[in-house]
Amino acid sequence: MPSPETHARIQARLRELHERCVPEAPGSVQHYYASGRGYYAPAEAGVEAQQFAISVVTVDGAVYEAGDSRLPFPLHSISKVFAYGLALTDHGPERVLERVGVEPSGDAFNALRFDERNRRPYNPMVNAGALVVSDLVRGDDADEQFARILAMLRCYAGHDDLTVDAATFEAEVRTADRNRGTAYLMRSLGMLEGEVETVLGLYLRQCSVPVTCAALATMAATLANGCVNPLTGVSAMPRKRVRDVLSVMHTCGMYDYAGSWAFEVGVPAKSSVSGGIMAVIPGKMGIGVFSPGLDVYGNSVRGVRVCKEISERLGLHVFATEAEDALLRGAPLSA
Ligand code: GLN
Repeated sequence: MPSPETHARIQARLRELHERCVPEAPGSVQHYYASGRGYYAPAEAGVEAQQFAISVVTVDGAVYEAGDSRLPFPLHSISKVFAYGLALTDHGPERVLERVGVEPSGDAFNALRFDERNRRPYNPMVNAGALVVSDLVRGDDADEQFARILAMLRCYAGHDDLTVDAATFEAEVRTADRNRGTAYLMRSLGMLEGEVETVLGLYLRQCSVPVTCAALATMAATLANGCVNPLTGVSAMPRKRVRDVLSVMHTCGMYDYAGSWAFEVGVPAKSSVSGGIMAVIPGKMGIGVFSPGLDVYGNSVRGVRVCKEISERLGLHVFATEAEDALLRGAPLSA
């Protein structure tokens, strides 16, 4: 753990970064998303335009926060990462791979397109893949499957009180026709086994679990720490599955921006329509950013900027040279 002085210095750096990233480049925010309402124009945004949080949790358990880091927002697509980890744990990668691929799709996350050659969704980070993954989670019925998903999310976050927000869930189910259509199509093609409404409900419940940005960074730090939550010491998933999950985040986690993200930022990450980004720096730290303004790819405008700056400043790109790595140079975060 850092000394109190180092901690205070890093905390001050994070606040500076937060302040610097408040202004969004003109035209960079394309839309916002709210459950039940769908996408809407920046001109119609209220307080959500100001909401902005950054949190960092290191693998040795130091916590840094700036902005609205205790404001809850629904996990949405970020939940796909954890459900995939659970399906892998339940069945092993070979069996899961038979049902869901690991190829970037090049399509939107909610596209009605599948890997037809292999008769499976392209990857678990698009909605089609996430629906099959939810169906794969073990349990006698959907309630038991969801109870297992929720228990695991609580483990990652270190919060026993994570739960579904009923209003979000109801709004999602009401407006889920595209996901419903995806599920029906997959069933007709023999890719999905469960009943459509059951699988859909399972997937949308996991999307509707609110987390704070601080909790999101803890979840990321848990992945960075071989799936042992650095704040509670509890393991959320077997260590050997972390590699599989991070690989898919690295290639498919940032929608159609995943390639540029891997090139520029170079760390496994997952984005959500609610404006969250969770980035994992293996062996070092987890980063959570929350700001609802979304760019043309559907990624949080401020979130992308924050991650780019942190990665660049600390030399965190997974393929960076050792000389670029500020942590190796002994200048953790405050460099
Ligand atoms: N609940 C949303 C959906 O399934 C989540 C999508 C997202 O975050 N990209 O459409």
